Amino acid sequence: MVLNEKLNPTSNPHLPFGDQRGAPFYGKDILSVKQFNRQDLAYIFEVAHEMREMVTRIGTFDLLKGKILASLFYEPSTRTSSSFTAAMERLGGSVIPINEVKYSSVSKGESLPDTVRTLECYADVIVLRHPEVGASAEAAKYARKPIINAGDGVGEHPTQALLDLFTIVEELGQVDGLTVTMLGDLKYGRTVHSLARLLSLYDVRLNYVSPEILRMPAEIIEEVDGKDIPQAEHRDLEAVLAETDVLYVTRVQKERFENLDDYDAVRGLYVIDAETMTRAKAEMIVMHPLPRVGEISMDVDDDPRAAYFRQMEYGLYIRMALLAMVLGKA
Ligand code: ASP
Repeated sequence: MVLNEKLNPTSNPHLPFGDQRGAPFYGKDILSVKQFNRQDLAYIFEVAHEMREMVTRIGTFDLLKGKILASLFYEPSTRTSSSFTAAMERLGGSVIPINEVKYSSVSKGESLPDTVRTLECYADVIVLRHPEVGASAEAAKYARKPIINAGDGVGEHPTQALLDLFTIVEELGQVDGLTVTMLGDLKYGRTVHSLARLLSLYDVRLNYVSPEILRMPAEIIEEVDGKDIPQAEHRDLEAVLAETDVLYVTRVQKERFENLDDYDAVRGLYVIDAETMTRAKAEMIVMHPLPRVGEISMDVDDDPRAAYFRQMEYGLYIRMALLAMVLGKA
């Protein structure tokens, strides 16, 4: 993927004093995990770790004072939108929130390129969630300011995958050598598409457990295969539970089904409960991008291996790191 050189100093002589002109992500879009290599990830995680320490020590600080984020969501969101807002505000910046596009000119028929060209007149960076695959890449073609993909339909969710991987690093210390089992809706779940791609940069084993109609797309399996990563597909979690280091549970994405009878046939097939956890490794972690709608029983929440609430918090630090990086302050 060719990255835009949008705010490249050579094309933009009006840089504010103090911007780090050589910073690797300065002015870049964050559209797909395909744009990252291991070195990039190590750098992002180092910055995110520093953000974690700063938030713990002082809470809010002025790294992005005067900067404005436009947060444009065409699909529902709780964690992604609120963590981007919190990230911007913890860094001293501010946010134009457009969470209900029906109250904006989108409802008058405005195109995505025009909406993006409007918002970049007022903001320094745009976070976009959209129901169509490729919408962020399309928006990025028209925008001069960085676009961050906050989920494009069933396509990708790169910032989620970054926070997922950061969770694994912070919780288990490393990624190489781990067996990661993804469970549930692997067809429509965009988070597992991005995460499988990102994990394929490491020495991991991947298990995909899903019903037949929700299998991991062939395109992703082929891509991961191209990196020589062992992958196995199963219908039954028990086949791989005991060897799993990271159990990544997903919601069946009701809103993506054309036929609700199909949804009814597969909802509730997999439920992780306290009894399931008795057959898992003592150091395994359970992750979930959330929201959960019954896939993980509440009796797992107090198990120290339940990492899904901590995972949400790691999302704040990753998004702080990304905002600081694309705005040239990290
Ligand atoms: N919150 C995640 C997403 O936006 C996962 C989900 O909705 O199930 O993709």
